[in-house]
Amino acid sequence: MKVGIIGAAGRMGRILIEATLANPDTTLAAAVDVPGSSLIGADAGELVGQGACGVLLVDDLAKVVNEADVFIDFTVPEATVKNLEVCRAAGTRLVIGTTGLDDEQKAAVRAAGDDIAICFAPNYSIGVNLCFKLLETAAQIMGDEVDIEVIEAHHRHKIDAPSGTALRMGEVVAQTLGRDLSECAVYGREGRTGERERHTIGFETIRAGDIVGDHTVMFAAEGERVEITHKASSRMSFGRGAVRAAAWLGRHDKGLFDMQDVLGLAGESAGWGKA
Ligand code: NAD
Repeated sequence: MKVGIIGAAGRMGRILIEATLANPDTTLAAAVDVPGSSLIGADAGELVGQGACGVLLVDDLAKVVNEADVFIDFTVPEATVKNLEVCRAAGTRLVIGTTGLDDEQKAAVRAAGDDIAICFAPNYSIGVNLCFKLLETAAQIMGDEVDIEVIEAHHRHKIDAPSGTALRMGEVVAQTLGRDLSECAVYGREGRTGERERHTIGFETIRAGDIVGDHTVMFAAEGERVEITHKASSRMSFGRGAVRAAAWLGRHDKGLFDMQDVLGLAGESAGWGKA
């Protein structure tokens, strides 16, 4: 599978180059970042401290969109929506890792799934996707008898909050319990808040240092609590998962998928807050 990376000079982009070069099922075919970057023209292999691989960083997806079977985009929401249209027009598949898309941008992703194959997930790590399953079980067994809080921590450069993964965790729990997250979510607390209401789902956000990504969902009752925690210690966990998704997406010509589909975990839970 020929893979192109968009946002190739970024933190995740470099990891994705490494993961694509390391995966026996994928070949690096293109690398794209923004015009004006001092790295445009650099060899993608050299960018990640490996030998030259012959793929040079370009500043416009349109120039290389036909060179890959699938692109992986970890950039910013505005760029992702533009890249989506370029891929849609060319009939090229897209794996989207960018988080923080608003409702209109998510609708654009859904619509493009009518024409091309797209994988869109807030977190490509296998452990986090397993946690989504564990959360469903915990919510089924404990849900209405406990207070549920989602706590997440990320590095100081992250620009959206709560994280896309924290929101998806909240969606999994809310949907399992028949609640609407947009109505029951509480984002942070301050001042005279009054007593906690049982049906709410709370979100707490920490931004500090170089934390790669920690998520805990707490189910707290009188006398006991269960905490489901995932800690990422390397971005490679996301990179490997996203490249696996890219290779998997090659089986499809169109449709909207997420990491649960890639891992065969979708089953009866399919559709948790998809896109
Ligand atoms: P970053 O700022 O280090 O990298 C983003 C890169 O995108 C930069 O190199 C930037 O120049 C480039 N870019 C911006 N606009 C572009 C455009 N129009 N065309 C091409 N390149 C463009 O950020 P990061 O830490 O790598 O994170 C990127 C995104 O990935 C964020 O939304 C983050 O939340 C998300 N993320 C998702 C997962 C996941 O598993 N889904 C994991 C980690 C990060």
